[in-house]
Amino acid sequence: MLPYGRQDITESDIAAVEAVLRSDYLTQGPAIPRFEQAIADYCGAAHGIAVNSATSALHTACLALDLGPGDRLWTSPNTFVASANCARYCGADVDFVDIDPRTYNLSVEALAAKLEQAETAGTLPKIVVPVHFAGQPCDMQAIGVLAHRYGFRVIEDASHAIGARYQGEPVGNCRFSDITVFSFHPVKIITTGEGGLATTNDLALAERMARLRTHGITRAPALMQGKPAGPWDYQQIELGYNYRMTDIQAALGLSQLQRLEDYIEQRHVLASRYDRLLAKMPISIPYRDSCHRSALHLYPIQVGANRRGIFEDLREAGIGVNVHYIPVHTQPDYLRLGFRLGDFPISEGYYSQAISLPLFPTMTEVQQDAVIETLSIAVFRRNLMPTLG
Ligand SMILES: *Cc1c(COP(=O)(O)O)cnc(C)c1O
Repeated sequence: MLPYGRQDITESDIAAVEAVLRSDYLTQGPAIPRFEQAIADYCGAAHGIAVNSATSALHTACLALDLGPGDRLWTSPNTFVASANCARYCGADVDFVDIDPRTYNLSVEALAAKLEQAETAGTLPKIVVPVHFAGQPCDMQAIGVLAHRYGFRVIEDASHAIGARYQGEPVGNCRFSDITVFSFHPVKIITTGEGGLATTNDLALAERMARLRTHGITRAPALMQGKPAGPWDYQQIELGYNYRMTDIQAALGLSQLQRLEDYIEQRHVLASRYDRLLAKMPISIPYRDSCHRSALHLYPIQVGANRRGIFEDLREAGIGVNVHYIPVHTQPDYLRLGFRLGDFPISEGYYSQAISLPLFPTMTEVQQDAVIETLSIAVFRRNLMPTLG
Protein backbone atom coordinates (compact mmCIF):
# COMPACT_ATOMS: atom_id res chain seq x y z
CA MET A 1 0.00 0.00 0.00
CA LEU A 2 1.35 3.41 -0.99
CA PRO A 3 1.01 5.45 2.25
CA TYR A 4 -0.46 8.97 2.39
CA GLY A 5 2.61 10.10 4.33
CA ARG A 6 5.91 8.49 5.12
CA GLN A 7 9.03 9.33 7.10
CA ASP A 8 12.44 9.48 5.45
CA ILE A 9 15.23 7.92 7.54
CA THR A 10 18.80 8.24 6.27
CA GLU A 11 22.09 6.65 7.32
CA SER A 12 23.04 9.91 9.05
CA ASP A 13 19.80 9.77 11.10
CA ILE A 14 20.72 6.24 12.15
CA ALA A 15 24.28 7.30 13.02
CA ALA A 16 22.95 10.20 15.13
CA VAL A 17 20.67 7.87 17.08
CA GLU A 18 23.42 5.30 17.47
CA ALA A 19 25.77 7.95 18.89
CA VAL A 20 23.22 8.70 21.63
CA LEU A 21 22.78 5.01 22.38
CA ARG A 22 26.56 4.76 22.92
CA SER A 23 26.66 7.91 25.08
CA ASP A 24 26.04 8.49 28.79
CA TYR A 25 22.56 9.98 28.45
CA LEU A 26 19.52 8.38 26.86
CA THR A 27 17.28 11.09 28.31
CA GLN A 28 17.72 14.48 30.02
CA GLY A 29 21.10 14.79 28.32
CA PRO A 30 22.69 17.30 25.95
CA ALA A 31 20.71 16.44 22.79
CA ILE A 32 17.53 17.98 24.21
CA PRO A 33 18.75 21.57 24.66
CA ARG A 34 20.57 21.30 21.32
CA PHE A 35 17.37 20.28 19.56
CA GLU A 36 15.35 22.96 21.36
CA GLN A 37 17.86 25.64 20.40
CA ALA A 38 18.04 24.45 16.78
CA ILE A 39 14.26 24.58 16.32
CA ALA A 40 13.97 27.93 18.14
CA ASP A 41 16.74 29.35 15.91
CA TYR A 42 15.16 27.94 12.77
CA CYS A 43 11.83 29.57 13.71
CA GLY A 44 13.27 32.79 15.04
CA ALA A 45 11.74 32.26 18.49
CA ALA A 46 13.48 32.92 21.79
CA HIS A 47 12.73 29.56 23.42
CA GLY A 48 11.94 25.95 22.51
CA ILE A 49 10.58 23.31 24.90
CA ALA A 50 10.75 19.72 23.66
CA VAL A 51 8.19 17.20 24.91
CA ASN A 52 7.05 13.68 24.06
CA SER A 53 4.22 14.73 21.69
CA ALA A 54 2.41 17.74 20.29
CA THR A 55 -0.52 16.67 22.46
CA SER A 56 1.67 17.15 25.55
CA ALA A 57 2.92 20.47 24.16
CA LEU A 58 -0.68 21.66 23.75
CA HIS A 59 -1.54 20.54 27.28
CA THR A 60 1.46 22.24 28.92
CA ALA A 61 0.86 25.35 26.79
CA CYS A 62 -2.74 25.57 28.08
CA LEU A 63 -1.58 25.04 31.67
CA ALA A 64 1.15 27.66 31.33
CA LEU A 65 -1.51 30.12 30.15
CA ASP A 66 -3.56 29.26 33.27
CA LEU A 67 -6.45 27.60 31.45
CA GLY A 68 -8.73 25.98 34.01
CA PRO A 69 -12.32 25.13 34.97
CA GLY A 70 -14.79 27.81 33.85
CA ASP A 71 -12.48 28.96 31.02
CA ARG A 72 -13.08 28.44 27.31
CA LEU A 73 -10.77 27.41 24.47
CA TRP A 74 -11.85 27.79 20.84
CA THR A 75 -10.33 25.96 17.90
CA SER A 76 -11.17 24.72 14.41
CA PRO A 77 -13.40 21.65 13.97
CA ASN A 78 -11.21 20.66 11.01
CA THR A 79 -8.31 19.30 13.04
CA PHE A 80 -7.04 16.30 14.94
CA VAL A 81 -8.85 15.82 18.27
CA ALA A 82 -5.72 16.86 20.22
CA SER A 83 -6.20 20.56 19.36
CA ALA A 84 -9.44 20.51 21.39
CA ASN A 85 -8.72 17.82 23.99
CA CYS A 86 -5.97 19.96 25.57
CA ALA A 87 -8.66 22.26 27.00
CA ARG A 88 -10.56 19.37 28.51
CA TYR A 89 -7.41 18.04 30.23
CA CYS A 90 -7.40 21.39 32.06
CA GLY A 91 -11.09 21.16 33.00
CA ALA A 92 -11.95 23.97 30.58
CA ASP A 93 -14.72 24.06 27.96
CA VAL A 94 -14.17 23.70 24.22
CA ASP A 95 -15.97 25.48 21.43
CA PHE A 96 -15.29 25.69 17.72
CA VAL A 97 -15.17 28.29 14.97
CA ASP A 98 -16.15 27.09 11.50
CA ILE A 99 -13.64 27.05 8.65
CA ASP A 100 -13.07 29.22 5.61
CA PRO A 101 -14.37 27.24 2.60
CA ARG A 102 -11.34 28.26 0.53
CA THR A 103 -8.41 27.64 2.89
CA TYR A 104 -10.05 25.04 5.20
CA ASN A 105 -8.49 26.97 8.09
CA LEU A 106 -10.46 28.57 10.91
CA SER A 107 -12.39 31.48 9.38
CA VAL A 108 -11.30 34.85 10.74
CA GLU A 109 -14.71 36.35 9.80
CA ALA A 110 -16.52 33.61 11.73
CA LEU A 111 -14.13 34.15 14.65
CA ALA A 112 -14.80 37.91 14.68
CA ALA A 113 -18.58 37.35 14.58
CA LYS A 114 -18.48 34.75 17.34
CA LEU A 115 -16.28 36.96 19.54
CA GLU A 116 -18.73 39.84 19.17
CA GLN A 117 -21.60 37.61 20.35
CA ALA A 118 -19.49 36.12 23.14
CA GLU A 119 -18.59 39.55 24.43
CA THR A 120 -22.27 40.40 24.84
CA ALA A 121 -23.01 37.03 26.42
CA GLY A 122 -19.95 37.15 28.69
CA THR A 123 -18.57 33.94 27.22
CA LEU A 124 -15.29 35.10 25.65
CA PRO A 125 -12.56 32.46 25.25
CA LYS A 126 -9.33 32.57 27.23
CA ILE A 127 -7.39 30.80 24.46
CA VAL A 128 -7.87 30.42 20.70
CA VAL A 129 -5.96 27.65 18.90
CA PRO A 130 -5.62 28.34 15.16
CA VAL A 131 -4.53 25.19 13.31
CA HIS A 132 -2.37 25.62 10.21
CA PHE A 133 -4.29 22.93 8.35
CA ALA A 134 -2.28 20.93 5.78
CA GLY A 135 0.65 23.27 6.50
CA GLN A 136 -1.02 26.44 5.20
CA PRO A 137 -0.63 29.31 7.69
CA CYS A 138 -3.76 30.87 9.17
CA ASP A 139 -4.18 34.62 8.91
CA MET A 140 -2.23 35.23 12.11
CA GLN A 141 -2.04 38.99 11.85
CA ALA A 142 -5.84 39.29 11.79
CA ILE A 143 -6.14 36.79 14.64
CA GLY A 144 -3.54 38.80 16.57
CA VAL A 145 -5.64 41.95 16.17
CA LEU A 146 -8.69 40.12 17.56
CA ALA A 147 -6.61 38.68 20.42
CA HIS A 148 -5.57 42.19 21.39
CA ARG A 149 -9.10 43.53 21.15
CA TYR A 150 -10.83 40.73 23.08
CA GLY A 151 -7.99 39.79 25.41
CA PHE A 152 -7.53 36.13 24.56
CA ARG A 153 -4.24 34.22 24.25
CA VAL A 154 -3.17 32.37 21.10
CA ILE A 155 -1.59 28.93 20.75
CA GLU A 156 -0.76 28.06 17.13
CA ASP A 157 -1.20 24.36 16.40
CA ALA A 158 1.55 24.08 13.80
CA SER A 159 1.65 20.26 13.87
CA HIS A 160 1.43 20.37 10.05
CA ALA A 161 3.48 23.47 9.55
CA ILE A 162 7.13 23.32 10.52
CA GLY A 163 8.92 24.91 7.56
CA ALA A 164 5.90 27.02 6.59
CA ARG A 165 6.27 30.78 6.26
CA TYR A 166 3.78 33.50 7.10
CA GLN A 167 4.46 36.92 5.56
CA GLY A 168 7.91 35.58 4.67
CA GLU A 169 8.75 34.62 8.25
CA PRO A 170 8.90 31.11 9.74
CA VAL A 171 5.78 29.77 11.44
CA GLY A 172 6.85 29.31 15.06
CA ASN A 173 8.35 32.77 15.58
CA CYS A 174 5.21 33.58 17.64
CA ARG A 175 5.00 37.07 16.20
CA PHE A 176 1.19 37.00 16.56
CA SER A 177 0.81 34.30 19.22
CA ASP A 178 1.93 33.34 22.71
CA ILE A 179 3.04 29.80 21.91
CA THR A 180 3.43 27.64 18.79
CA VAL A 181 3.28 23.85 18.92
CA PHE A 182 4.89 21.35 16.50
CA SER A 183 4.47 17.57 16.13
CA PHE A 184 7.19 15.13 15.12
CA HIS A 185 5.00 12.08 14.61
CA PRO A 186 6.30 10.06 11.62
CA VAL A 187 3.60 11.27 9.20
CA LYS A 188 4.47 14.91 9.89
CA ILE A 189 7.13 17.01 8.11
CA ILE A 190 10.11 15.88 10.22
CA THR A 191 10.03 13.15 12.85
CA THR A 192 11.42 12.05 16.19
CA GLY A 193 9.28 8.87 16.29
CA GLU A 194 6.95 10.50 18.78
CA GLY A 195 7.61 14.03 19.90
CA GLY A 196 6.54 17.63 20.06
CA LEU A 197 7.94 21.04 20.77
CA ALA A 198 6.60 24.41 21.86
CA THR A 199 8.20 27.73 20.90
CA THR A 200 7.60 31.03 22.67
CA ASN A 201 9.24 34.42 23.14
CA ASP A 202 8.08 34.65 26.75
CA LEU A 203 10.69 33.43 29.24
CA ALA A 204 8.14 32.88 32.02
CA LEU A 205 5.96 30.70 29.75
CA ALA A 206 9.05 28.76 28.60
CA GLU A 207 10.17 28.09 32.17
CA ARG A 208 6.69 27.06 33.23
CA MET A 209 6.25 24.63 30.30
CA ALA A 210 9.70 23.15 31.02
CA ARG A 211 8.68 22.65 34.65
CA LEU A 212 5.29 21.16 33.80
CA ARG A 213 6.99 18.64 31.51
CA THR A 214 8.84 17.25 34.50
CA HIS A 215 6.32 16.96 37.36
CA GLY A 216 6.21 20.68 38.24
CA ILE A 217 9.57 20.25 39.96
CA THR A 218 12.10 23.07 40.38
CA ARG A 219 15.69 23.19 41.63
CA ALA A 220 15.80 27.01 41.56
CA PRO A 221 16.14 28.32 45.16
CA ALA A 222 14.32 31.54 44.17
CA LEU A 223 11.17 29.52 43.37
CA MET A 224 11.25 27.37 46.50
CA GLN A 225 9.25 27.78 49.66
CA GLY A 226 11.74 28.67 52.37
CA LYS A 227 15.44 27.99 52.01
CA PRO A 228 16.60 24.82 50.21
CA ALA A 229 17.28 22.08 52.79
CA GLY A 230 20.60 21.37 51.04
CA PRO A 231 22.23 21.12 47.63
CA TRP A 232 20.13 18.01 46.88
CA ASP A 233 16.83 19.78 47.40
CA TYR A 234 14.10 20.05 44.80
CA GLN A 235 10.51 21.09 45.25
CA GLN A 236 7.33 20.27 43.41
CA ILE A 237 5.69 23.69 43.29
CA GLU A 238 2.73 22.72 41.08
CA LEU A 239 1.30 19.54 39.58
CA GLY A 240 3.16 18.54 36.42
CA TYR A 241 3.66 15.44 34.31
CA ASN A 242 6.35 13.28 32.78
CA TYR A 243 6.18 14.66 29.24
CA ARG A 244 9.91 14.46 28.54
CA MET A 245 11.42 13.77 25.14
CA THR A 246 14.39 11.37 25.13
CA ASP A 247 17.85 12.24 23.79
CA ILE A 248 17.39 9.42 21.28
CA GLN A 249 14.41 11.28 19.84
CA ALA A 250 16.08 14.69 19.99
CA ALA A 251 19.15 13.39 18.11
CA LEU A 252 16.88 12.03 15.38
CA GLY A 253 15.05 15.36 15.22
CA LEU A 254 18.31 17.33 14.96
CA SER A 255 19.45 15.12 12.12
CA GLN A 256 16.08 15.40 10.33
CA LEU A 257 16.08 19.18 10.71
CA GLN A 258 19.10 19.36 8.38
CA ARG A 259 16.82 18.22 5.55
CA LEU A 260 13.72 20.26 6.41
CA GLU A 261 14.17 22.80 3.61
CA ASP A 262 14.71 20.02 1.05
CA TYR A 263 11.58 18.27 2.29
CA ILE A 264 9.45 21.38 1.90
CA GLU A 265 10.84 22.03 -1.57
CA GLN A 266 10.15 18.48 -2.68
CA ARG A 267 6.61 18.67 -1.27
CA HIS A 268 6.08 21.79 -3.38
CA VAL A 269 7.40 20.07 -6.50
CA LEU A 270 5.01 17.15 -5.99
CA ALA A 271 2.04 19.34 -5.05
CA SER A 272 2.54 21.55 -8.11
CA ARG A 273 2.65 18.43 -10.23
CA TYR A 274 -0.62 17.27 -8.67
CA ASP A 275 -2.09 20.74 -9.34
CA ARG A 276 -1.14 20.51 -12.99
CA LEU A 277 -2.13 16.91 -13.64
CA LEU A 278 -5.42 17.07 -11.73
CA ALA A 279 -6.54 20.38 -13.25
CA LYS A 280 -8.91 18.82 -15.78
CA MET A 281 -10.58 16.39 -13.38
CA PRO A 282 -14.02 17.18 -11.88
CA ILE A 283 -12.55 17.64 -8.39
CA SER A 284 -11.26 20.63 -6.39
CA ILE A 285 -7.57 20.88 -5.64
CA PRO A 286 -6.42 22.60 -2.44
CA TYR A 287 -5.98 26.38 -2.51
CA ARG A 288 -2.47 27.72 -1.92
CA ASP A 289 -1.92 31.31 -0.85
CA SER A 290 0.95 32.74 -2.87
CA CYS A 291 1.79 35.29 -0.11
CA HIS A 292 2.70 32.57 2.39
CA ARG A 293 4.61 29.30 2.10
CA SER A 294 2.66 26.18 3.02
CA ALA A 295 4.59 23.26 4.52
CA LEU A 296 2.26 21.04 2.43
CA HIS A 297 1.82 18.35 5.03
CA LEU A 298 -1.33 17.22 3.20
CA TYR A 299 -2.84 17.39 -0.27
CA PRO A 300 -6.61 17.31 0.44
CA ILE A 301 -8.91 17.24 -2.58
CA GLN A 302 -12.70 17.61 -2.75
CA VAL A 303 -14.24 14.85 -4.87
CA GLY A 304 -17.94 15.68 -4.87
CA ALA A 305 -20.82 13.50 -3.77
CA ASN A 306 -19.22 10.07 -4.36
CA ARG A 307 -16.42 10.24 -1.82
CA ARG A 308 -17.03 6.83 -0.33
CA GLY A 309 -16.82 4.95 -3.64
CA ILE A 310 -13.81 6.89 -4.86
CA PHE A 311 -12.04 6.32 -1.53
CA GLU A 312 -12.79 2.59 -1.67
CA ASP A 313 -11.57 2.28 -5.26
CA LEU A 314 -8.29 4.01 -4.37
CA ARG A 315 -7.71 1.86 -1.29
CA GLU A 316 -8.55 -1.27 -3.25
CA ALA A 317 -5.91 -0.30 -5.81
CA GLY A 318 -3.30 0.02 -3.06
CA ILE A 319 -3.36 3.82 -2.82
CA GLY A 320 -3.26 4.69 0.90
CA VAL A 321 -5.57 7.69 0.83
CA ASN A 322 -6.93 9.15 4.05
CA VAL A 323 -9.49 11.68 5.26
CA HIS A 324 -8.52 14.84 7.15
CA TYR A 325 -10.49 15.56 9.24
CA ILE A 326 -13.66 14.15 10.70
CA PRO A 327 -14.94 17.36 12.37
CA VAL A 328 -14.00 17.09 16.04
CA HIS A 329 -17.45 18.17 17.31
CA THR A 330 -19.03 15.13 15.58
CA GLN A 331 -16.98 12.63 17.61
CA PRO A 332 -19.19 10.69 20.04
CA ASP A 333 -17.25 12.04 23.01
CA TYR A 334 -18.01 15.60 21.81
CA LEU A 335 -21.65 14.91 20.93
CA ARG A 336 -21.95 13.86 24.57
CA LEU A 337 -20.90 17.40 25.54
CA GLY A 338 -23.86 18.81 23.62
CA PHE A 339 -22.45 19.42 20.13
CA ARG A 340 -24.71 18.48 17.23
CA LEU A 341 -24.36 17.53 13.58
CA GLY A 342 -24.93 20.76 11.67
CA ASP A 343 -23.22 23.00 14.25
CA PHE A 344 -20.30 23.79 11.90
CA PRO A 345 -21.69 23.20 8.41
CA ILE A 346 -18.69 24.35 6.36
CA SER A 347 -16.40 21.85 8.14
CA GLU A 348 -18.97 19.11 7.78
CA GLY A 349 -19.51 19.84 4.08
CA TYR A 350 -15.78 19.94 3.46
CA TYR A 351 -15.28 16.66 5.33
CA SER A 352 -18.03 14.88 3.37
CA GLN A 353 -16.06 15.32 0.13
CA ALA A 354 -12.48 15.19 1.40
CA ILE A 355 -9.73 12.77 0.41
CA SER A 356 -6.03 13.33 1.20
CA LEU A 357 -3.83 12.03 -1.59
CA PRO A 358 -0.42 10.53 -0.81
CA LEU A 359 2.27 13.20 -0.47
CA PHE A 360 5.71 12.73 1.04
CA PRO A 361 9.18 13.89 -0.05
CA THR A 362 10.49 10.52 -1.24
CA MET A 363 7.41 9.83 -3.35
CA THR A 364 8.41 9.16 -6.96
CA GLU A 365 6.77 10.51 -10.10
CA VAL A 366 5.88 6.93 -11.03
CA GLN A 367 4.03 6.54 -7.73
CA GLN A 368 2.35 9.88 -8.20
CA ASP A 369 1.29 8.96 -11.75
CA ALA A 370 -0.27 5.77 -10.38
CA VAL A 371 -2.27 7.84 -7.87
CA ILE A 372 -3.47 10.21 -10.58
CA GLU A 373 -4.42 7.44 -12.99
CA THR A 374 -6.25 5.41 -10.34
CA LEU A 375 -8.04 8.54 -9.14
CA SER A 376 -9.14 9.55 -12.62
CA ILE A 377 -10.61 6.09 -13.27
CA ALA A 378 -12.32 6.06 -9.85
CA VAL A 379 -13.81 9.54 -10.31
CA PHE A 380 -15.05 8.70 -13.80
CA ARG A 381 -16.51 5.35 -12.76
CA ARG A 382 -18.18 6.57 -9.55
CA ASN A 383 -19.60 9.73 -11.09
CA LEU A 384 -21.06 7.64 -13.90
CA MET A 385 -22.35 4.89 -11.61
CA PRO A 386 -22.60 6.27 -8.08
CA THR A 387 -24.42 3.23 -6.71
CA LEU A 388 -21.82 0.71 -7.83
CA GLY A 389 -20.98 -1.90 -5.19
C1 LIG B 1 -0.65 15.19 14.74
C2 LIG B 1 -1.41 16.33 15.28
C3 LIG B 1 -1.49 16.62 16.65
C4 LIG B 1 -0.96 15.68 17.70
O1 LIG B 1 0.39 15.40 17.51
P1 LIG B 1 1.07 14.26 18.41
O2 LIG B 1 2.53 14.59 18.31
O3 LIG B 1 0.73 12.96 17.75
O4 LIG B 1 0.54 14.36 19.78
C5 LIG B 1 -2.15 17.75 17.06
N1 LIG B 1 -2.73 18.57 16.18
C6 LIG B 1 -2.70 18.33 14.84
C7 LIG B 1 -3.34 19.30 13.92
C8 LIG B 1 -2.06 17.20 14.36
O5 LIG B 1 -2.06 16.93 13.05
